[in-house]
Amino acid sequence: MSAHSGAKIGGEFALIRQFFHQKTQHQAQVDLSVGDDAALFRVAHGQQCVVSTDLLVSGRHFFADAAPRLLGHKALAVNLSDLAAMGAQPLAFTLSIALPSVDEAWLADFSAGMFALAQTHQCDLIGGDTTRSEQLVIGITIFGQLPRGAAILRSGAQVGDDVWVSGTLGGAAYALDLLQNGVAHVPELLRQRLEAPTPRVALGLALRDIATAMLDVSDGLAGDLMHVLRASNLAATIECDDLPMPLELQELPQLEAWRYAVTGGDDYELCFTAPATQRAALTALSVAQGVALTRIGLTTAGAPNITWRSQSNPAHLAQMSDWTGYNHF
Ligand code: ADP
Ligand code: MG
Repeated sequence: MSAHSGAKIGGEFALIRQFFHQKTQHQAQVDLSVGDDAALFRVAHGQQCVVSTDLLVSGRHFFADAAPRLLGHKALAVNLSDLAAMGAQPLAFTLSIALPSVDEAWLADFSAGMFALAQTHQCDLIGGDTTRSEQLVIGITIFGQLPRGAAILRSGAQVGDDVWVSGTLGGAAYALDLLQNGVAHVPELLRQRLEAPTPRVALGLALRDIATAMLDVSDGLAGDLMHVLRASNLAATIECDDLPMPLELQELPQLEAWRYAVTGGDDYELCFTAPATQRAALTALSVAQGVALTRIGLTTAGAPNITWRSQSNPAHLAQMSDWTGYNHF
């Protein structure tokens, strides 16, 4: 970007060198990284490049005083989650950051959180942009790869497929509510659901030959599953009694727990469809990866719509009909 002074941060290049220059060896496919006008990397023959981007704005996506290490982790995690939802292998990412000021301790923690997760997934920071603004804004664009045609799209679900989710739902939204209401001791594992989500990258890769459609649950199961149903032109029936939830949610009144599990965003679990013939394979995969996989319902022929069902509490279902996911507008 050109230096319309005022927007540029003093010592920008030193700052980039200090905090955003990867100290570890780059992957073999990265030919040129931070330092030139653009970066260069290769995807192997017969592979497609997968690209996704996410913008995090202070006050909207995270608290202004959020711990920088966790923020660095989460900014990358939400992007890795999008690649996981396609069944893609992460390769590299760029970081665009607008900072209100240069706070070295903050930057050190932020980049440490980000690079720790990057290293776990062997995903290299290869470039970005750095500028000043009133508000902290973090934009990451991530690049991955997969064999041509192997991506798991939202549009591939078939009539009669099972609907599955990984992990648990609702924990992040519940933690957010507790924190916003000033609750002093939010259980650590619950906080982590919100502040340090685990992108299901290995699971996404393993689901390539199993799932017919997939996405990551970032805006709540109801809204996100509707994206799959619209893209696949199907309806679904979901068993509320089978929704996997963290222990803290299981202790709440049932309707409240279901509201978090169905409408709560930010869980970054995978929701996917698969034919019933894959049940045994999915049970084995769950054990092999140590990630819960729960069958929560079925797709059916019909206009895109979700029918919520429950044996234990059918009286609650009427109130759920207008529950949708988080929408920014
Ligand atoms: P240009 O003016 O050509 O856009 P910049 O001065 O913005 O280049 O950036 C110099 C180099 O530093 C580029 O390689 C760019 O990708 C990299 N860079 C800038 N900001 C970041 C960042 N936040 N994280 C990683 N790399 C960055
Ligand atoms: Mg620039």
